[in-house]
Amino acid sequence: LVRLRARLSRSQNALGKTLLTLLSRDTLDDDAWDEIEDTLVQADVGVTPARQIVEDLRTKVKVYGTRTPDEVRGLLKDELLAQIGKDLDRSLRTEPHGAQPAIILVVGVNGTGKTTTCGKLGRVLVGDGRSVLLGAADTFRAAAADQLQTWGSRVGAEVVRRDEGADPASVAFEAVKKGIEDRVDTVIVDTAGRLHTKTGLMDELGKVKRVVEKQAQVDEVILVLDATTGQNGLRQARVFAEVVDVTGIALTKLDGTAKGGIVIAVQRELGVPVKLVGLGEGPDDLAPFDPEAFVDAILG
Ligand code: GDP
Repeated sequence: LVRLRARLSRSQNALGKTLLTLLSRDTLDDDAWDEIEDTLVQADVGVTPARQIVEDLRTKVKVYGTRTPDEVRGLLKDELLAQIGKDLDRSLRTEPHGAQPAIILVVGVNGTGKTTTCGKLGRVLVGDGRSVLLGAADTFRAAAADQLQTWGSRVGAEVVRRDEGADPASVAFEAVKKGIEDRVDTVIVDTAGRLHTKTGLMDELGKVKRVVEKQAQVDEVILVLDATTGQNGLRQARVFAEVVDVTGIALTKLDGTAKGGIVIAVQRELGVPVKLVGLGEGPDDLAPFDPEAFVDAILG
């Protein structure tokens, strides 16, 4: 929590500060509630959820006769947690099945932090004593394979790659094949995030998934979403969620934005739990998503 708070406050998280100032007003009149709603919208909570949160909060404040800023903060915290989905299963399935490695596909729009997330996740797993293989199936972006290779050497994971322009599905196939042969614990496959057309994307990702599934069970499909791209990023992410069965979201670049409210919009729009958060560019800047700690951090 301390680390999370430090990272989020480094980005001068406006949400918590503004909300607390508003909640500390002597009287919470219509204007104050409107401002609270605006603050939530500006933090990318989304228009409808922001309205709902404020309506519920107003009702509760009235019914319970809550007055002190601390009490209102407590109610707001409950409200945010309810929207985020406090009790969802956010565990990552990374355990091998007998002789079969666990397979994790990492998908999302280019630039969101897919390759970086693969590397950081590799680091976490290697740190836990697992053997990890990284598959460089993003064969469209120049240097993606080099970048993954660098991550591999950095975190102690082997990398399977081919030349730029190779068929992504064949790279994914080979990565999984090698993972099985070498009895690796976890195979993480980085994929291309070209959002040309929905059918094109569907064909491409569908093929990657199919060739992997010929050999092993896919345990996680992690959709990477850049928190700084707000509602627009969310719209693009929705296309991915429509073409593959996403099992979890990795929300990156939370260190560089005051728009942490996107967590709420993500849960609501995509209906998939945020499992990981990216808090920087370094190897140790990936954390499991803890709703309670997160809400505490953004409320200051
Ligand atoms: P990809 O195209 O989706 O594979 O994206 P990359 O992994 O290459 O990341 C794009 C840029 O975002 C790189 O400069 C990364 O260092 C940066 N990045 C990725 N995750 C984070 C994060 O959590 N925080 C910050 N500040 N930068 C990140």
